[in-house]
Amino acid sequence: MKYTCQTILKVIGKLVSNQYVSHCKVCDKRTFNSVEHVICFCTNNDAQGNRVRDAVYDVKGHDGFMSIMYLNSAQQCELLLQLASEPEGDALRYPCIAHAVASLCSSMWD
Ligand SMILES: [Zn+2]
Repeated sequence: MKYTCQTILKVIGKLVSNQYVSHCKVCDKRTFNSVEHVICFCTNNDAQGNRVRDAVYDVKGHDGFMSIMYLNSAQQCELLLQLASEPEGDALRYPCIAHAVASLCSSMWD
């Protein structure tokens, strides 16, 4: 869980500070926002991206999932990271989403 929380924090930091073009470490495409790319657009991360979408569907249900999918990519990233880091007591409220997002985004540092 510590690794998951550290990764989520690093992703949030990268999302709010990433204002330069970089190359995706997975597909080598040039991207202005690596977090949005990895979460919403990287086609080489489809299996891990599907795990994120499955986790969101399980937690939010069909209507909640569809309302998230209609958001633009920046809004989707913000909401996913909000869900992934939402506390409940001294734990995470949605650990399945946190694990899936951390696993997907860990490719940015591997
Ligand atoms: Zn990529």
